[in-house]
Amino acid sequence: MGKHKFKTEVSQLLDLIIHSLYSHREIFLRELVSNASDALDKLRYLTLTDDDYKGLPFVPRVDVSFSQGGEGGDGKILTVADSGIGMSEKELTENLGTIARSGTRRFLDELTKSKDGGGADTNLIGQFGVGFYSAFMVADRVEVLTKRAGESGAWRWSSDGRGQYEVAEAERDGVGTTVTLFLNEDGGEYASQWQIEAIVKKYSNHIAYPIYLHTTEPQGDTDQSDGKETKDGKEKVEQINAASALWTRPKSELSEEDYVEFYNGLGHGDEEEPPLHYVHTRAEGTLEYTTLFYIPAKAPPDLYYADYRPGVKLYVKRVFITDDEKELLPTYLRFVRGVIDSEDLPLNVSREILQQNRTLAAIRSASVKKLLGELQTLTNNHERYDAFIEQYGRPLKEGLYQDFANRDALLELVRFRSTEQEGLTSLAGYVERMKEDQKAIYYITGERSANLAASPLLEVYRSQGLEVLIMDDEIDAFVIPSVGKYQDHELKSVNRTDTADDLGTEQSKEKAKEIGPLLRRIRGVLGDQVKDVKASARLSDSPSCVVADESDPTASMQAVLKAMGQDAGEFKPVLEINPSHAIVEKLRDTDDDDVIADAGHLLLEQAMLIEGVALSDPVAFAQRLNRFMSRALS
Ligand code: ADP
Repeated sequence: MGKHKFKTEVSQLLDLIIHSLYSHREIFLRELVSNASDALDKLRYLTLTDDDYKGLPFVPRVDVSFSQGGEGGDGKILTVADSGIGMSEKELTENLGTIARSGTRRFLDELTKSKDGGGADTNLIGQFGVGFYSAFMVADRVEVLTKRAGESGAWRWSSDGRGQYEVAEAERDGVGTTVTLFLNEDGGEYASQWQIEAIVKKYSNHIAYPIYLHTTEPQGDTDQSDGKETKDGKEKVEQINAASALWTRPKSELSEEDYVEFYNGLGHGDEEEPPLHYVHTRAEGTLEYTTLFYIPAKAPPDLYYADYRPGVKLYVKRVFITDDEKELLPTYLRFVRGVIDSEDLPLNVSREILQQNRTLAAIRSASVKKLLGELQTLTNNHERYDAFIEQYGRPLKEGLYQDFANRDALLELVRFRSTEQEGLTSLAGYVERMKEDQKAIYYITGERSANLAASPLLEVYRSQGLEVLIMDDEIDAFVIPSVGKYQDHELKSVNRTDTADDLGTEQSKEKAKEIGPLLRRIRGVLGDQVKDVKASARLSDSPSCVVADESDPTASMQAVLKAMGQDAGEFKPVLEINPSHAIVEKLRDTDDDDVIADAGHLLLEQAMLIEGVALSDPVAFAQRLNRFMSRALS
């Protein structure tokens, strides 16, 4: 009881919300209604599963009312009341006085980041669960009157959102929560029947419970009304949402708008952008369930966080069970939003049981197949599929090593850049273009910054007209080697020692023999900086390149591992020298040891730079380069 200070993060958050989400301030109502709906879900669940609650009456409803008050914003009030689970005193302070969720810290960061970028803000607010505080965008003061189911006392929380809140004992008729907003000047517009109806229809039409709007008709009005007389007139109560769990309705009855509206109400979507795709499935037979999945047009901002918020809600027979279960879909599909509603699961499933439940496993595996099948169909729509790949190409590749059962389907869905194609290509497209006697699917890995398309490693492939896939996504170098094959074609990295051997010509093999002594001298000069120095069959224009030995990670992959704080071990590159290059031919004939020493290092260093790897001793590199320039100029 008494006065409390907000945790500093809350104050910061309030400030940020008020300032950065201002142009979207109507979402405060979506957030309050969504909290009310969650509270009803929770109580419903307990009355169905917990003996202590089974006897309690459960009449689920959300009631919205407003009063016009005086001039301007002064005196205008808006309330959102629910007959849900309510909060105890402890829950009140925990939920509304601190930011318990670990995600909120990140929300702050994201919000600051995206403030000038704009766009993602309203999306973020639902993602990270700071919904309640959005009320302070439209209110000078907020009161929460709440009575927890199973308790006798009620509590009133109130705050002006400026650093302090109060909690005091209070009275409330039934269990549930009433949030009262004392609207500020800019919030005044929301004390309007028209506004409230429009916002509720837009965002909350399909929440599972009825939302009633209370309006007062001026006295003297002769209209029939079932409302009761009040001081200023008759009160009228009207349900303003459809309150149907949309996914339970037959597809044939639903329009594209219905689906988009429901998506917006999920609180995960940015209402300005309709989903990229959705799929609604009802399964009957041994397993009965309904799924409604959406692919957001833009990847959720927490896509690459380990503690991302899962986007799929689990229901059992229309009863909400959880929205915090990451196992409902494999992690590589974590961008999918929507609903799974099962007829066969028990209502009181614990998390442990959920994770081992056969029914759920079967639904999950069918859902994955369905989603991948949908994506395969989507590939026919190039524009849409490109948009999909741009957002989700990377998580999809994660599936290649996470989901062996669906690897073949995933291999059809992933896309890569290539030396021969504008834009992206599928593996199937590559195979179609393969030469008749081509031995493998070739690919090059490395960093985007390294301009792989111009890499010397590709010279022999270019001269023989062989297409090479450019795998410059960080994840490629980790995932693709584990794939091994596509259909019957081996996938071969051109960054490795053995790949080019089968491409060498007779002439190049002759040449290679001639530089044996030079290779030995360079090996001596470079010592343990390299694993080996070899004659190259793959170079035509460049004097040298570095490759990784058989199963070693490539140089750029090691850089990635290191950046991720992982110990990549000490893998030395293999330096390959082009025996036909003019520089190499000259070096072969020199017996100046100093020249060989500088040249050997420079051949290695330039090859490393082209790989996109920073030099360990750039000063020594510059000195060598300068010595060579002086020699050339004198
Ligand atoms: P979120 O709903 O995303 O968790 P909020 O800031 O909107 O974040 O709410 C914080 C918490 O306060 C909720 O998780 C819930 O436990 C509690 N809460 C908010 N509104 C209500 C309500 N109407 N009834 C019961 N609990 C509520």
